[in-house]
Amino acid sequence: MDQLEDIRARIAQSARIAGRQPGAVELVAISKTHAAEAIEPLLAAGQRVFGENRVQEAQEKWLPLREAYPDVKLHLVGQLQSNKAEDAVALFDCIHSVDRPSLVTALGKAMEKAGRQVPCFIQVNIGAEEQKGGCAIAEVPALLASAREAGLPVIGLMCVPPFDIEAAPFFALLAKIAADNGLEQLSMGMSDDFETAVLLGATHVRVGSALFGSRQKK
Ligand SMILES: *Cc1c(COP(=O)(O)O)cnc(C)c1O
Repeated sequence: MDQLEDIRARIAQSARIAGRQPGAVELVAISKTHAAEAIEPLLAAGQRVFGENRVQEAQEKWLPLREAYPDVKLHLVGQLQSNKAEDAVALFDCIHSVDRPSLVTALGKAMEKAGRQVPCFIQVNIGAEEQKGGCAIAEVPALLASAREAGLPVIGLMCVPPFDIEAAPFFALLAKIAADNGLEQLSMGMSDDFETAVLLGATHVRVGSALFGSRQKK
């Protein structure tokens, strides 16, 4: 699987430049919109961490795939509706998109009911874009406090910077906010900018099109 080897090598190279261990960066292969046939080559090549952005699509695709590959870890990277919190907690091993108090409450209840603690990132609207998901920068401390109170294991911060502008300043800002709040993990960097993200401390990069080719338009 050439693309996978290429992405892994570039992550490792960026980590080395930054004086970090390549193993400190998790590659989350974003398989949204791609069918099982497109995912199989990555599984065969040893990739085990995948990301999806819709609960129902992920259930349909991964419940069968997981029978063959029980050690797969699934990450949710898309906006989550509170009424899907129970399904999300049952299916995913990590949730990157906790962004509002109502979702914190729903996830807290779902985790308690399921007896399952799913590590979470708080998604930050790092470019203060109106249409984008994520909590406002100023709201991070309060949302983090309520998430902890609700029993969510919050491990770090996640962002999707504004499109078509240099991402580095936004990655650096996310890293600073995380450090200020005592959080160690950073979910940042996608196909076009994951190397920059690794240089600036990303612990999780979310790479889709560079692994799978472009997504089919719906
Ligand atoms: C689709 C998606 C990605 C992957 O984007 P690519 O540019 O295809 O690598 C990463 N993060 C989120 C939140 C996404 O929705």
